[in-house]
Amino acid sequence: MAGKRLRLPLVFTRSCVAELKEQLGVCSRSVFGVEPSQMSFLFFLMYAAAAGGLLALLESSPGCAQEFKIKGGTQQLSECLAQRVGWKNVRLGSAVTAIWQDAEWARVMTTDDTFLCRAVIVTCAPHLAAKIQYQPALPSMREFLTQNMPVGHMMKFILTYQTAFWKEKGFSGEIVAGSSTDCPFCVTFDATSPRGNPALVGFISGQQATLWSTREAGERRAAVLSSLVKYLGPEAASCIHYEEKDWAKEEFSGGCPVSVMAPGLLTFYHPSLRKPCGRIHWAGTETATLWCGYMSGAVQAGQRAALEVLAEVSHVVLTPEEQESLIQGQTLHRPPKPTALSALLKRLSRKSVLIPALTIGAALLLVRKRDVLVKIQTYVGAF
Ligand SMILES: Cc1cc2nc3c(=O)[nH]c(=O)nc-3n(C[C@H](O)[C@H](O)[C@H](O)COP(=O)(O)OP(=O)(O)OC[C@H]3O[C@@H](n4cnc5c(N)ncnc54)[C@H](O)[C@@H]3O)c2cc1C
Repeated sequence: MAGKRLRLPLVFTRSCVAELKEQLGVCSRSVFGVEPSQMSFLFFLMYAAAAGGLLALLESSPGCAQEFKIKGGTQQLSECLAQRVGWKNVRLGSAVTAIWQDAEWARVMTTDDTFLCRAVIVTCAPHLAAKIQYQPALPSMREFLTQNMPVGHMMKFILTYQTAFWKEKGFSGEIVAGSSTDCPFCVTFDATSPRGNPALVGFISGQQATLWSTREAGERRAAVLSSLVKYLGPEAASCIHYEEKDWAKEEFSGGCPVSVMAPGLLTFYHPSLRKPCGRIHWAGTETATLWCGYMSGAVQAGQRAALEVLAEVSHVVLTPEEQESLIQGQTLHRPPKPTALSALLKRLSRKSVLIPALTIGAALLLVRKRDVLVKIQTYVGAF
């Protein structure tokens, strides 16, 4: 083909472009909860690369995003973490309203309390972190970043049935609907419980979510059922129960499932995503370099931020691998030998030293009194 141009008929090219736009729209709505026009294409590519490819984001085969379900629900992850940290160290219902920094401390404020901290890890999504009041103000690059990371809009619904009639008909229960249809949802999956209770789960997403969130719940339910009847047959109309949730109406989510980057953001402001601002370190799934936007990404980001804090506050000497992982913004999955971090954590748990409050929502190392902090520093310094 060297030196020659392949000329495709204009009609064929146009239909390919239309098909591609439709497919990208479906992908954008079902993965990000936004329309393609709301999101940077470079961010889309970065996000797919962080998962190992586009199909990995969409499929339920091994290694893909939909591979596993957690028996009993994902809330157990937070509960198990809280147990390990100690429930007494976890503050629920205490939103952080302000973080003030001076030469000595960061002051983390809620409506009832102020915590003196040597370091703070903010783990909520950028659009929520932007609601916290910072003093001194954050660098303008960071402000631009958070102002240009809108969160997706998804409404999730679950329907339970007497029988998994779709399976009896040879269907998987997975429906993918483009915007050119009159269907309110963009995607559904089989959600039959491990005990065998038949269910379907689906999402109303992007522009459709904006449209349908203003309608009455009964109207939405009727539209969802009517589309399911169209795709799966009349049995779909007879569900036992219909439950839905509009994540945009949750104060501490503001949307679902992830914050995306507007066009131009990745090019100009991306370094501010993970760069600490004084004593404030940034975690949360949006800052991950692997499985960004997913729970695995949140874990990776938390480990990276913990290493940053340990290196800075506790004077722990990181191994070359840990230092490299900090530079890369990644953490090691299987360290070949015990690292400074793992050795430290092992000793901390063995000697039952007071572990500073670590909430999945807000802050690491929340230390209320100086003497407690001194104890921790003394202990760490002993290694
Ligand atoms: C409907 C839905 C389905 C999903 N499905 C999947 C899936 O199948 N697989 C998957 O891997 N991921 C899924 N996700 C995404 C997954 O939930 C996130 O990637 C993950 O929870 C991100 O963790 P995080 O710790 O970064 O943030 P979050 O889990 O959002 O935690 C941030 C916490 O900060 C708290 N917070 C916010 N503001 C403040 C404040 N001012 N002060 C104190 N606390 C604050 C919030 O209440 C929240 O608890 C789904 C998300 C949704 C909404």
